Amino acid sequence: MKNQLDTNPIIDLRNVKRHYVQGEEVVRALDDVSLSIYQGEYVAIIGSSGSGKSTLMNIIGCLDTPTAGEYSIHGASVPHLENDALAALRRNTFGFVFQRYNLLSNATALENVEIPAMYAGIDATERKQKAEKLLEKLNLKDRATHKPGELSGGQQQRVSIARALMNGADVILADEPTGALDSGSSEELLDLLEELNSSGRTVILITHDQSIAERAHRKIEIRDGKIVSDTGPRLLAPSRPELTNTQYGNNVIQLAESMKMALRALNANLFRSCLTLLGVVIGVAAVVAMLAIGEGSQKAVIASIENMGSNLLFVQPGSPGIRTRGVAIATLTVEDASALNELENVRAAVPSRTQRETIRAGSVDYETTIEGVTANWIDAQDWPLVEGSFFTATDEERRASVVILGWTTANNLFEDISGVVGEYILIGGAPFEVGGILTPKGASTRGQDMDDIALIPITTGAIRLFGQSYLTGITVAVEDTDKIEETEIEAHALLLSRHGVQDFQLRNTASLLESVQETQSSFSYLLGSVAAISLLVGGIGIMNIMLVSVSERTREIGVRMANGARQTDILLQFNTESFVLGGLGGLVGIVTGLTISFLLGKNGIDVAITPAPTLIAFSSALITGLFFGYLPARNASQLDPVVALASE
Ligand code: ADP
Ligand code: MG
Repeated sequence: MKNQLDTNPIIDLRNVKRHYVQGEEVVRALDDVSLSIYQGEYVAIIGSSGSGKSTLMNIIGCLDTPTAGEYSIHGASVPHLENDALAALRRNTFGFVFQRYNLLSNATALENVEIPAMYAGIDATERKQKAEKLLEKLNLKDRATHKPGELSGGQQQRVSIARALMNGADVILADEPTGALDSGSSEELLDLLEELNSSGRTVILITHDQSIAERAHRKIEIRDGKIVSDTGPRLLAPSRPELTNTQYGNNVIQLAESMKMALRALNANLFRSCLTLLGVVIGVAAVVAMLAIGEGSQKAVIASIENMGSNLLFVQPGSPGIRTRGVAIATLTVEDASALNELENVRAAVPSRTQRETIRAGSVDYETTIEGVTANWIDAQDWPLVEGSFFTATDEERRASVVILGWTTANNLFEDISGVVGEYILIGGAPFEVGGILTPKGASTRGQDMDDIALIPITTGAIRLFGQSYLTGITVAVEDTDKIEETEIEAHALLLSRHGVQDFQLRNTASLLESVQETQSSFSYLLGSVAAISLLVGGIGIMNIMLVSVSERTREIGVRMANGARQTDILLQFNTESFVLGGLGGLVGIVTGLTISFLLGKNGIDVAITPAPTLIAFSSALITGLFFGYLPARNASQLDPVVALASE
């Protein structure tokens, strides 16, 4: 096989042109270039600055596309290839060595070398072993963990050669690789390229230096975009029938790598990242905390309504639409209550008459609500006594001066409420015997203390306190809660027939609950829109910072593309970054929101922490990151590799 040329060129350019249109002028960077390069050749392309060498190399390396002409690699026409196929060629067939090294500055030497293998979907351990071996071969073993900034030019260039070799490149494309090196390092590098060539790789070296070009086996001179001389292919021994690696990226590995890169990139601009997070954090924290408060107050209201009993109907005096709470209008009477008591399914209809009055116990004066009720009050209410017993029907008939104290009232009147039963207190100047004390019930739906009360027989009240005997309201307790609606209708009909006009109102706890839930759901809508707006603002922040990030890292994107990253890889990388931003913002927001809720809860505000708002807020943050990061990431992925590489 020795001294026999492979008759099929690996690289074949036919009449290739690359023109740049700049205003009126057309720059012919490459003008009708035809060239065949064979397996195992060592070719130097020489020309003065601006002659079109780099343009040629970019086209050969599939970083750029010709304006016209044919180009094939291994016989396959390149201009017809899809983006992903071009990326695969860059990843597997070519190894680039640039004058400016083009290493990623915040990755170590080892990580830089691993990049092409990462985009080839080779798993981390295998990748690392291979990169270590290459670095060792290039005398960089002890520099593996150093970042490019900590390496000399010669060392950086050797790292970039190791990177070029990572996927077993067939063709090494070196664009003025010694341009930035001192003579010693240049010599070393040229030896290295020679060695790679003698091990069977095709080496295409671009230079403007005659003495360097002399070392190659074939010299092609280019001037003003045209080939002016070519020493022609030499007879070389093709000794590398090795198959090129055509593996495509593995998405799981890509995702893990993207995650890692994202965290690193965010960490590199920590302060900026934190500021960007803020919008999302505030949005999520607001949702979590506000919903906890909303949920908490709703629960408290519902609990107090349920505490009143779901079996109750309330009759109030006055026409519907007129607020008459607490005001006695002469439309309801004790007889109305007695009539209601006779209805089927009514357990107890309790008339009540309230009045503010000062109570005196010993030297203590305390103003409270005196409520005159009938003895069946205790049957209507689910409200036991802690001490003593409720007054009886006999007490009511005898107009006994007996009083049942609410928890708050009792505690305000007496320092120690045990043994209070049987003592006498004065209400409106008249003595009353304490018959019992009610258990504490808490606040009502309107935030009133339901325990700030004193109950007396309504008959006694009529003669001692109230004067005329009309009522403030009637509370009706039903037997069977399922039939409460029917009972309500019957009660309504009964009262209407007794009064002739609708001078009363009927309500039930279910309707109260309904109205609470209605206000609650409009509150939720309001909250939702506040949250949506703050997430939108957060999202715009993410988009903004991602756009900045992409333009700052254009060169990095070019380097990644030259090393075989597909458009989807770049898209994934940047979108992962925004996704991670959203996610971190969400997490911090949840922690903040929960902390706020917790602190509020400790300070006596009703809060209820439920998993649903937390989950919704977090996933909204993730979606925000994904959505608002997509456009910048897509911009990044659609960059032209040559343009990206040329950016500063
Ligand atoms: P060399 O690498 O030999 O120094 P290049 O291949 O970089 O030369 O450039 C060849 C010619 O093409 C130069 O005249 C240069 O100005 C022009 N050129 C290169 N890139 C662009 C571009 N993106 N837009 C316009 N003109 C360009
Ligand atoms: Mg150049």
